[in-house]
Amino acid sequence: MEILVATHNVHKKEEIQQILGERFTVMSLTDYGIHEEIVEDGETFHENALIKAKYCFEKTGKASLGDDSGLVVEALDGRPGIYSARYAGNHDFEKNMSKVLREMEGEKNRKAYFITVMCLVDDSGVHYFEGRVQGNLTAEISGSKGFGYDPIFIPENHAVTFAAMTASEKNMISHRKKAIDRFLTFLNS
Ligand code: IMP
Repeated sequence: MEILVATHNVHKKEEIQQILGERFTVMSLTDYGIHEEIVEDGETFHENALIKAKYCFEKTGKASLGDDSGLVVEALDGRPGIYSARYAGNHDFEKNMSKVLREMEGEKNRKAYFITVMCLVDDSGVHYFEGRVQGNLTAEISGSKGFGYDPIFIPENHAVTFAAMTASEKNMISHRKKAIDRFLTFLNS
């Protein structure tokens, strides 16, 4: 089965392909020759995921998966939240992490979670799948793998950040993995 994932990001496409396995062929917008940026102007993760999936489905008529993810920090009233990708600088991971660490200086409550909301739009309608991974923020950057806020996030019941884990270790427990598991359960039901 072919799934069109509403992204231009090769990294994201490969991560989803690895989790979904060989039964599925994951395609990206770029694979379909669509190079426009989708305007993500929703106010929630759910709204943004829907905007992306709907855009792809309307363009191609293929089963389309939109997703929106981010880091939600309790002591920061949920920030960076839906602004995770552009909190301090557009897709500038270093600047975004530095801003979060600066805002968290001296803060004892380090609780945070990553969330992914996936939205499938196909001929049958609209379906949502959510995954979360709880954890704590570090005081400084640690680890060099992954992307985004991985170097400052230690998942619950683990001793190291996502950025110190291998891709397959992270993919076993990540928010994206949990959302995709729900998506797979839905497809198999
Ligand atoms: P997206 O909606 O998946 O593009 O994620 C938006 C932003 O959230 C990314 O640019 C990252 O800053 C952050 N983010 C989402 N997932 C992860 C993750 O697994 N690790 C680290 N940061 C993430």
